Amino acid sequence: MVSDLARPLAGLVGPEHVRHDAHFLADASQAMGLRGRAAAVVLPGSAEEVAAVVAWCYERGVPIVPRGGGSGYAGGAVPLDPDAVVVALDRLDRVRSFDPGLWRIEAEAGVRTQTVARLARENGLFFPPDPGAAEQSQLGGNIATNAGGPHCFKYGVTREWVSGLEAVIAPGELVRFGGPLRKDVAGYDLTGLLCGSEGTLGIVTSAWLRLLPAPALQLPVVGAFADVQAGCAAIERVLASGVVPATLEYLDAGALAASASTFPGGLPAGAAFLVICEADSTEEDAAELQESLSGELGAALRPAARALWRWRDGVSLAVVAQRGGKLSEDVVVPLDRLADTITGTVEIAERHGLEGCSWGHAGDGNLHSTFLLEPGNAEQLVRAEAAVEELFALTIAFGGSVTGEHGLGWLKRGQLRHQWAPAAVAAHEAIKAALDPRGLFNPGKKTA
Ligand SMILES: Cc1cc2nc3c(=O)[nH]c(=O)nc-3n(C[C@H](O)[C@H](O)[C@H](O)COP(=O)(O)OP(=O)(O)OC[C@H]3O[C@@H](n4cnc5c(N)ncnc54)[C@H](O)[C@@H]3O)c2cc1C
Repeated sequence: MVSDLARPLAGLVGPEHVRHDAHFLADASQAMGLRGRAAAVVLPGSAEEVAAVVAWCYERGVPIVPRGGGSGYAGGAVPLDPDAVVVALDRLDRVRSFDPGLWRIEAEAGVRTQTVARLARENGLFFPPDPGAAEQSQLGGNIATNAGGPHCFKYGVTREWVSGLEAVIAPGELVRFGGPLRKDVAGYDLTGLLCGSEGTLGIVTSAWLRLLPAPALQLPVVGAFADVQAGCAAIERVLASGVVPATLEYLDAGALAASASTFPGGLPAGAAFLVICEADSTEEDAAELQESLSGELGAALRPAARALWRWRDGVSLAVVAQRGGKLSEDVVVPLDRLADTITGTVEIAERHGLEGCSWGHAGDGNLHSTFLLEPGNAEQLVRAEAAVEELFALTIAFGGSVTGEHGLGWLKRGQLRHQWAPAAVAAHEAIKAALDPRGLFNPGKKTA
């Protein structure tokens, strides 16, 4: 992958930062066989160098693919145009400022998600967004995908915690929106627009984040149920009770069958649906909340928080281990359609001769609907892809969305037009055209 571009780009970022490693050409969608090609991979060392690279590419019509930790599931960071330049943010890894007393931090795009969480925790604070691949993903990637996780039920997804951005936009300008401000309505919400833009509107170089004082206690409560209906009824009881848990997660029978054996403390016999809540707050309030949640869930289990979340982090891998592979989506539905979508996932799988299961963020109506596969079985993959199309149609019929976490990226390109009206799709495309008139930022990704 040595190209004519390497020499001029080396002049902008230094020859040792123009790389050729295959590592930069794939993301977590590699499991689906997606790999890319690029003319060059560059690792700028500063926001100014990012701007210089973008200006150079933009002037010459060279496609630009921003890359964070490469943990994305939608192929967003995979370069699919052999003439593209991958801009990897790994070297922008400085915390620019941290004011624990003012509950705020400014960190560059390449800082790892877990580093932000750890710094906050060590200073008695809390950065709530908790996407699963925190040791691999970067802050810039989390912002570009507007990532979420279990605790986003109570606290909201990444966007809620970004008060300002520094970014490079076309044709190579370094700009700032917002900042260390807790309120700002002066202009259109360009910070929000870049959150979830998947590298198609510009490159995030740094972000101001809001933090919270850490809750004194995190007390999980887990309810085990005999079936989807009983479990979803309990989820609705929790919501109706007025108690606000930090998390409201579920696992269906298939996901539980794959992972139950390692559940901390064990599960009662016959458990075929799990609801996982967490009470968090001051010492007194959390204990009282935990009691209330236990009441709503019936006879509830109380595993230790650390052990429970470590186990929950392993659910996806435990499901993969059943057959060696999976095709998994992250659809979202209105809460009153959650049970139908959970059972619908299994029924769709059966219609296509596959095993299906789901788990996810019940309180957000966000399912990880999954079809199990044997690696290398091309015929099974074709059936799984057909199952996914049916799942998307069901989700959209329920008024839902094809993605609540991972984004459209490359793998779900073209899906938006099935769930948005033509005028809304036109507005989406007009924003892209206005901010990226030459269509060079991550071409082909997040297309309607
Ligand atoms: C095991 C595992 C668990 C996961 N769990 C979750 C989860 O719980 N919740 C969740 O939301 N996701 C989850 N994901 C998906 C993934 O981790 C998130 O989407 C994450 O936010 C991607 O960050 P990244 O730095 O790896 O980005 P990448 O994969 O490198 O890129 C993702 C997208 O963002 C763009 N991008 C990256 N950096 C920038 C930047 N600085 N400026 C502009 N655009 C940029 C890329 O072009 C691409 O379109 C999981 C993935 C794995 C492998």
